[in-house]
Formats: sequence, structure tokens, C-alpha cells
Amino acid sequence: MGIPSLCMAPHPALRVVARPVDAFADEVRRLARDLIETMHAHEGIGLAAPQIGRDTQVFVANPSQRRGGELVVVNPVLRGARGRASVVEGCLSVPNVWGRVRRAAAVRLEGRDLAGKPLVIEAEGLLAVVLQHEFDHLQGRLFIDRLPWFQRWRAEARLRLAACA
Ligand SMILES: [Zn+2]
Repeated sequence: MGIPSLCMAPHPALRVVARPVDAFADEVRRLARDLIETMHAHEGIGLAAPQIGRDTQVFVANPSQRRGGELVVVNPVLRGARGRASVVEGCLSVPNVWGRVRRAAAVRLEGRDLAGKPLVIEAEGLLAVVLQHEFDHLQGRLFIDRLPWFQRWRAEARLRLAACA
């Protein structure tokens, strides 16, 4: 089985609001496995389903990049957001663009695991940033949307040029 290919901005799949999972069947487990393998293949620390062209509310996160440390989150909701963080972010779907993004420093994320059981994650530091970044993907948002307008404009122009090349 091959590694799914990544959708690159401005691919329309990255702008879709993903649909919640209602059946916790094999298909969701296969999707999670695809996300984990694709994330590792590209040495990422997180990956969301729209990035491999699937409009399903599933993402994986793994700030340590250690095999076996992957967190799989289904149907996430961000609740308690506290404090402020400002971290330079990049994205596997937005090549060669980095920017400092303002986020909450700590979040509480509620969702489901692959078996459909409730999952609650209290996170701070890099994990909190990754959870917010991946959650955004499921809403059709990219980190460049949160950059100051001039940086965003410059990034989008560069992406459009790359897409035509
Ligand atoms: Zn991303």
C-alpha cells in the first residue's frame, strides 16, 4: 500500500469544512493509519484528513515525532483556550512558507478516539499549537490565514505561482 499524496495549497480540498465521523468502523482506522504513515513519511508533527483529500474530521498529532507517540483525534472541539503563544509555524500543505502565528498557549480539546470513546486532551506548549493548527485544517483554515495581511498576501502569491509551474 502506497503513501497517500499530499494536497498542496491552493488545492480546494484544504478549504472544505470536514464532516464528522458517525460510524467508527474500519474505514476510520484505515484513514488514521494513512495519516500516520503520511505524517512520518514527510517528517511532520501533525496531519489532518483534508491534507490527503479526505473531508473527514480526523487528525493526527505527534510533536515528538517518535513512532508510537501518535495521537489520533476524531470529531474534535476546542474548548478552554488560555493564555497567548506566538510560534513560527509551517505546514506540509504550504511548502516553503513559515510565519509567526498567534495562538492560545493552552487548550482543552474534546473529541473521540478511534473506538468512538470520549477523548479529552489538556495541552500546552508545542502540543497545544499543533492541536490548534490541525483543528483549523478540519475547518478549512490554514495557518497563513492567521498571518498579518501582507505576509498572507505574499504567501498566497508564492503558492499560486508554484501551482502554475
Ligand atoms: Zn498544516
